[in-house]
Amino acid sequence: MSDVRISFLGGLGEIGRNCMALEVAGEIALIDAGILFPKLDMLGVDLVLPDLTYIKENSDRVRSIFLTHGHEDHVGGVPYLLRDLDAIEIFGTDLTLGILEPKLEEHGVADRATLIEVRDSERVRRDPFDVEFIPVAHSVPRGCALAISTSEGLVVHSGDFKIDHTPVDGRRTDLQRLGELGSSGVSLLLSDSTNAEEPGWIRSETAVGAFLTELFASHWDKRIIAACFASHLHRVQQIANAAISHGRKIAFLGRSMLSNVATATRLGVLDLPEESVIPVSEAGNLPPQDVCVVCTGSQGEPLSALALMAAHDHKSIAVGPDDIVLFSSHPIPGNEADVYRVIDDLYRAGATVIHSGVNEEVHVSGHGAAEDLKTMLSVVTPDWFVPIHGEYRHLVHHASLAEEMGVPADRILIAQDGDVVTLRDGKAAFASETVPAGYFYVDGIGLGDVNQEVLRDRQLLGEDGVVLVVVTLDSRTGEIVSGPEVISRGWVDDVESMELIEDARATVVASIEEAAEEGGLDWATMKRHVRTALGKFIWQSTKRRPLIVPVVMEV
Ligand SMILES: [Zn+2]
Ligand SMILES: [Zn+2]
Repeated sequence: MSDVRISFLGGLGEIGRNCMALEVAGEIALIDAGILFPKLDMLGVDLVLPDLTYIKENSDRVRSIFLTHGHEDHVGGVPYLLRDLDAIEIFGTDLTLGILEPKLEEHGVADRATLIEVRDSERVRRDPFDVEFIPVAHSVPRGCALAISTSEGLVVHSGDFKIDHTPVDGRRTDLQRLGELGSSGVSLLLSDSTNAEEPGWIRSETAVGAFLTELFASHWDKRIIAACFASHLHRVQQIANAAISHGRKIAFLGRSMLSNVATATRLGVLDLPEESVIPVSEAGNLPPQDVCVVCTGSQGEPLSALALMAAHDHKSIAVGPDDIVLFSSHPIPGNEADVYRVIDDLYRAGATVIHSGVNEEVHVSGHGAAEDLKTMLSVVTPDWFVPIHGEYRHLVHHASLAEEMGVPADRILIAQDGDVVTLRDGKAAFASETVPAGYFYVDGIGLGDVNQEVLRDRQLLGEDGVVLVVVTLDSRTGEIVSGPEVISRGWVDDVESMELIEDARATVVASIEEAAEEGGLDWATMKRHVRTALGKFIWQSTKRRPLIVPVVMEV
């Protein structure tokens, strides 16, 4: 019997860039390929991908990608992945593929893959893979858990999920099916850890609907502008329902909102009476109480429609005292400053803002809390458990929940990015080898031209600036022919700190002479001497460490 190998390429130790490679009988299938939004210290980086080295090196063995749901942290990396893969089959539900498809077209890679739609509870067989898509409730509709039959028994991947008994679309996490699989035996459960630290249950999505209805009733005389994630189509539906029941028209705003609403309407995920939807250009002309604008920008994205409205920079909608602005979301950690800047701007414009900081009712999470996670563990009753989808502390918390639920501690593996877990003869274990799992930065249209070193330089430049030293030397004697010139950006003001620059120059001259005396006439030695001496001088005189770039020319 062949081993089953699971290589974690991303998502274990961070929230984002979820991706794992599942290997059965020598063939590789990927489960999800998402992106991570850059952290504050990743200057200039647009997004972060899983490390795809392992996939590239084994591309001849990769034929399929199974997608759990349409969130960016699960599908956003697929267009980049397809640059290195060809003739791939991608499996997902209608909405998951509907969200993915325009991304593939935008990147010009749509012809490199065949998208194959999977219905709820359907089983996909692509030898040696046999995967059942089990419905789960989450903050994007039509998400799935995956049950994968292997030579080592059943592997269940929870996808992102919560237990919602009254979901907006009536499509519950299929606990019954998961329980059936559990009683027939599950070798390994991989489960979402995002909210493992939260006690209790996550409230039902429909609880937000009740809050929205009240909000529209009590602010019947104002215009309502509601911001939420463009993929949160259940939320969009509930906002629309509340607006329509109060006699309002709805205008959608923001590129991803318009695209997702169109896809979801086509697929029957969203149900909107045609006469209730108006273009945003008309919304500005209607009396405030007759309209509701649903837009992106709930994370304070600086170029979003909401940020532009707040800054009076939007062509159709000007925010003012007649507006109630609702943030139907929580700021993702790291986005708080941006969110609060937009909220401040909205207040300055005279609007009233309702957000999670003043009212918890505006949002519920799509990821199960401790009791939801325990329910999953209790119905699946796995032999082995690996917590996934979380920062390290979430994984540890989830592991202790599993222990509480009776999974023996030595059958719980806390894996991290790069780890490989094997299933062999009924045992799960870490493989001795790991796979590359570093951050893969995307910057502009470039892919892989930014690395850790470039980022460190950007951080240095941002914090302490740069000092350029330009000098021309006689290559035979090492004597200075012209210069040195010391030019600073971001360290000190060249004009106001003339004296300091002069001293820096003298330091450079001394270091060059010293190097020449020691016989270090080659270019690299010169540079090293200059950098060391000047770095020391700058630190002693200003306690700064700017990036020092010696430019040594020889004649
Ligand atoms: Zn998700
Ligand atoms: Zn996710």
